Amino acid sequence: MRVRIAALACRPILALGLDCYDDVRSVIVHPDEFVVRGREEVDAAGVVHVSDDVLSGEAWEQGPVILAWQEVLASGRGDGFDVVAHEFAHKLDLLDGDANGTPPLHRGMSREAWAQAFQWAYDDLCARVERGEDTWLDPYAADDPSEFFAVCTELYFDVPERLKIEYPAVFSQLTAFYHPGR
Ligand SMILES: [Zn+2]
Repeated sequence: MRVRIAALACRPILALGLDCYDDVRSVIVHPDEFVVRGREEVDAAGVVHVSDDVLSGEAWEQGPVILAWQEVLASGRGDGFDVVAHEFAHKLDLLDGDANGTPPLHRGMSREAWAQAFQWAYDDLCARVERGEDTWLDPYAADDPSEFFAVCTELYFDVPERLKIEYPAVFSQLTAFYHPGR
């Protein structure tokens, strides 16, 4: 289990270095999808919604990464799904303290180009989801920019050619981030 999780977790940081995961002190593994009960969310009107979420993984800021083993087994097999890359992408996103879909970019990368590529693709997905289209990207990615970045990271490592066709600008920003110098 350790080897499979480590191998999948290392893929995104082969060029970035292990320091990126300094904050990851522990990885908690559940046998299968797990339920987080009573999570509170405040909507725009200030109303508090309490819900139970069924999760395949979770990444806590300055805390553990939590993974469902059955989902780890299904990850990285060319189906466009990789819960490990997804949760560790959240960790990379959080390196600057903000879960906003933008990790700390390398010198030479343009924040503006990054924002433009991701905003356009995110807006496109949100519009498709709103129209009720059957989208190639998991509609979950339309939740917020941080989920969009995590889902695009999964796709980047699992089905890069398809992501390149779907959102070429996002693909090239992710290449600049995950493979600087390529
Ligand atoms: Zn996520």
